[in-house]
Amino acid sequence: MIIVLKPDISKKEEKAVLTEIRKLGYKPHIMRGVERTVIGAIGDERKNHTLESLASWSQVEQVMPVQKRYKLVSREAHRSSSTVKVLDQVLGGRKFHVMAGPCSVEGEAQLMKTAEAVKAAGATILRGGAFKPRTSPYEFQGLGEKALKLLAKARKETGLGIITELLSEGHAEMVAEYADILQIGTRNAQNFQLLIAAARTGKPVMLKRGLSMKIEEWLLAGEYILANENPNLLFCERGIRTFETYTRNTLDLSAVPIIKNESHCPVVVDPSQGVGRADLVTAVCKGAVAMGADALLIEVHPNPAEAWSDGAQQLTLDGFSRLMEELKPFVAAAGREF
Ligand code: PEP
Ligand code: MN
Repeated sequence: MIIVLKPDISKKEEKAVLTEIRKLGYKPHIMRGVERTVIGAIGDERKNHTLESLASWSQVEQVMPVQKRYKLVSREAHRSSSTVKVLDQVLGGRKFHVMAGPCSVEGEAQLMKTAEAVKAAGATILRGGAFKPRTSPYEFQGLGEKALKLLAKARKETGLGIITELLSEGHAEMVAEYADILQIGTRNAQNFQLLIAAARTGKPVMLKRGLSMKIEEWLLAGEYILANENPNLLFCERGIRTFETYTRNTLDLSAVPIIKNESHCPVVVDPSQGVGRADLVTAVCKGAVAMGADALLIEVHPNPAEAWSDGAQQLTLDGFSRLMEELKPFVAAAGREF
């Protein structure tokens, strides 16, 4: 059930509602919007008392059921779009964000050079894989904590926030110590224990869409983050597995307006894993902006031909800066600021 509070009520009145929700056997989740505070009350409605009685309370505007299987990520629960704060940046607001950096952190020179170049071109978040989910056990698995330390150094030097993948529950605390956003990769999108561990670090979580995940499953996976007391969730479309072979995956841009309709959480598009080809990245980024994405996640490498992972899809530093220039009119046409 969703309980919409009246604007301008006191903290004491709000607390009384929360106490009553708990008393009736539900767990309250507070969502604060610009104009309204909304409480998602989660519990088994067959087992617990009805919350309808709250509708008569003077501080309550409305009590309504959420019809969808996902509750807290749903736009029914939170009509205005939510934003996610990362250092001094706000994702999901008017400003359009670009997260960029190498697929994998390979060493200090590679990372610092990329970090400085993407910052100069206008990126606001630095990406870089420290723990890599590789299809083959014989491929480069990432530099691990050494890469995390380099990412932290790059943040110190550039001021860019850091996004990096969390691959296993056992690493949650360590990765959260260095990262500003935890990326959950496509292969782990329904690893529910990992999602819970990520949520509990309190860091913003970016949930990639699973390789063959339906949108409802993706939204329900996102629900695990909010249901574990972490309101800072970003969804990331990164392509799904189809029969097509001209691209590495099939980037489902229609998922962007669907998620924006269904959920209040910001949406990111990853064109790099999405198409797997550097020559297509610019076109797809323009499409993502037009479809209403809030941010992009783009792989950039000083020398893609020698990259230790995903060489074919990484942009050069110059290529990235050209892309950022080309995106400007599209970002403006979408009513966003760079
Ligand atoms: C990546 O971002 O480098 C990555 C491994 O992503 P995905 O989980 O989408 O394959
Ligand atoms: Mn990659």
